[in-house]
Amino acid sequence: MHRNKALGQPSSQFQIDAAGWAVGAQHVPSPNFDARAEGTEIALLVIHNISLPPSQFGGPYIADLFLNKLDYDADPYFDQLRPLRVSAHFLIRRDGTVLQFVSAHDRAWHAGVSSFCGQERCNDFSIGIELEGTDFDAFADAQYTALAALTVALKAAYPLMHVTGHEDIAPGRKTDPGPFFDWAEYQARYRVQQKQANIGEAAPDLAFRLM
Ligand SMILES: [Zn+2]
Repeated sequence: MHRNKALGQPSSQFQIDAAGWAVGAQHVPSPNFDARAEGTEIALLVIHNISLPPSQFGGPYIADLFLNKLDYDADPYFDQLRPLRVSAHFLIRRDGTVLQFVSAHDRAWHAGVSSFCGQERCNDFSIGIELEGTDFDAFADAQYTALAALTVALKAAYPLMHVTGHEDIAPGRKTDPGPFFDWAEYQARYRVQQKQANIGEAAPDLAFRLM
């Protein structure tokens, strides 16, 4: 049962390096982050969706937004984004490609005003993962696969206890990842991949969308 370890092979698609960057992801460092408070336990994973312009997939605009390089004149919708300085740690595109903008050691600016189990300012203690998508479309199979693999790697590197949605920590203000995000599918794939990776078994299990 310990086949992967015995061979000494990396058994997960991603691995978090000592600086908090995922080996296996494309690294596109954003300036939109700051340091977490000393001794912060990174306990929460927050799932989002985003598409720019809304409901359009595949353009460069999400990454451009997180890098403060968005051409605000490229679409009428973008004008309202001018004041934003935002970032997620990760973006998973429709084809399953994973981009990383901020080291998971650091605080990315993805959640805004938020509260999880009475703890406010979720950016302080969470890692944010954006899925390219909307509240009205099913997510791609490749996105669940990549998300599960990334979650396995992050769980092995950080004391993550819970995974939740942006809509759950900012109710009334945010609606993502929305009704088309399949939490059961995500959880099932995570469990399978975690077993295959054979890592993190001694740690407490990850609770999915526990309010
Ligand atoms: Zn969000």
